[in-house]
Amino acid sequence: MNEQNALTESEARPSNFVWDIVDEHNASGRFGGKVVTRFPPEPNGHLHIGHSKAISLDFGTAERYGGTCNLRFDDTNPVKEEQEYIDGIIEDIKWLGFDWGDRIYYASDYFQQLYQWAVQLIKQGVAYVDHLRADEIREYRGTLTEPGKNSPYRDRTVEENLKLFEQMKNGEIPDGGCVLRAKIDMASPNINLRDPVMYRILHESHPRTGDEWCIYPMYDWAHGQSDSIEGITHSICTLEFEDHRPLYDWFIDQLGIHHPQQIEFARLNLTYTIMSKRKLKQLVDEGHVSGWDDPRMPTLSGLRRRGYTPEAIRELCDTVGVAKSNSVVEVELLEHTIRQDLNRRALRRIAVLDPIKVVIVNYPKGMVEEMEMVNNPEDESAGTRKVLFSRELYIEREDFMEDPPRKFYRLSPGREVRLRYAYFITCTDVIKDVDGEIKEIHCTYDPETKGGNAPDGRKVKATLHWLSAPHAKTAEVRLYDRLFSTPEPGKDFLNDINPNSLEVLENCYIESALADAKAGEHYQFERTGYFYLDPDSTDDKPVFNRTVTLRDTWAKIQKKQG
Ligand code: ATP
Ligand code: MG
Repeated sequence: MNEQNALTESEARPSNFVWDIVDEHNASGRFGGKVVTRFPPEPNGHLHIGHSKAISLDFGTAERYGGTCNLRFDDTNPVKEEQEYIDGIIEDIKWLGFDWGDRIYYASDYFQQLYQWAVQLIKQGVAYVDHLRADEIREYRGTLTEPGKNSPYRDRTVEENLKLFEQMKNGEIPDGGCVLRAKIDMASPNINLRDPVMYRILHESHPRTGDEWCIYPMYDWAHGQSDSIEGITHSICTLEFEDHRPLYDWFIDQLGIHHPQQIEFARLNLTYTIMSKRKLKQLVDEGHVSGWDDPRMPTLSGLRRRGYTPEAIRELCDTVGVAKSNSVVEVELLEHTIRQDLNRRALRRIAVLDPIKVVIVNYPKGMVEEMEMVNNPEDESAGTRKVLFSRELYIEREDFMEDPPRKFYRLSPGREVRLRYAYFITCTDVIKDVDGEIKEIHCTYDPETKGGNAPDGRKVKATLHWLSAPHAKTAEVRLYDRLFSTPEPGKDFLNDINPNSLEVLENCYIESALADAKAGEHYQFERTGYFYLDPDSTDDKPVFNRTVTLRDTWAKIQKKQG
């Protein structure tokens, strides 16, 4: 067998520093050659494209080494978490094309174990119940330059702590009454080690455990132990957790349980985009977008609705690679990636987005011809189709100028252009209404040029798309621009929202083949971009989202960057 063919997709990819670490472990036998990873979302929002970076690294690493990857919901905060998000996250990861088999877990499944381990740490004298108020805890914590101070409750006896923790658990203490903290070092240069809170009291119902608990573990207390319980070998996470690693290590060492290796990598950031569930939720809650799946959102559900493909998103993740320091990726690279993918798969179709009527005055009234058009020049197997041609047509308004400047080569009085796959036409007259608005453009056609070429070899400078007016169907088309008008939306990101990010064109014409366009099929509307059917479509009127325009600016940017 050919050696190259034996490699799976992820094995064939160039290595990265995470895989170098796994290779070292496999060589030294640290985990007995096992590779177990997990993707651990918190179900407090829907996934965005940044998450796909983590997903493809978590699942891709397992795949590369013949290991497994779990899906685990880190559902430790009942105030912000919802079943809707759990369902959405599952749908999004499946859509990206990753499979966790039956290994779907929840940190909330480990609440009892975590509670027992907390009791163990109290008994070991390294955890205590603290009655300082939240603001006092903050004040006692110190700063980056000043050490913290010990809480006056820090030296409670083990018995007292056990009794108080029991009362916390039994619901005898109101929210905010006290917390359980790890007893580590209030003078540690790493603030995460200054007696971090392990449990807080929250009389809140949890999406999965209901009212069983009124104390909830902090993320930092739950995360590492959950990894350990699942036998995770390589706990891959983003850089902001680097300073938490000593804490996770401390907990695991105190408990003497299986010790995963945490490895941090740089988050994916994109220009003109925000990547924070909290901020994305704000956009939704305040009505700046129509929902989490608004096609302008960087969420996976928004990108999917817009017409992005999982393949393009995975390709972006691979292209960007895995880095150790944070950076911002040009959104043009994402657009380039989706264009490349859609160029291969999209069916070519004709749509006139901003129609103006053309009458071919020397074309016989009542005559209709079928013009053969190629469905996808990149894919011969997609075949051809017939599009009807007649005396009255629509072309794009912007393809005509009555008084053209130099360098405008499209249709204007006296000018000959090509109608793609049809005929050469020459503009002879412009008909206006009483207000001086152009109503119709009159042209003549050259019957010798059928198919779009002149037998005498004469050339024209422009090729326009067109639709036969009596045969065209109507559609709504939604054009999107970037949601933000600045490359790196700042703290006041709401001020950076682009007021013109959505343009709705309600009266577009489409060729009849598009009247029964299918969800899931990608189209290139010739000359105007890639489009995808929106679920707002009705039987009477399809609605199309423009996924991306045709003009690729990535090469130019790369050149500029040297
Ligand atoms: P957000 O800041 O958007 O709320 P998060 O980190 O709080 O994200 P989680 O649900 O905790 O969201 O994320 C699950 C996993 O995805 C974590 O391992 C996290 O490190 C990773 N992740 C989140 N955002 C990105 C990103 N932009 N690039 C790469 N990985 C990310
Ligand atoms: Mg997080």
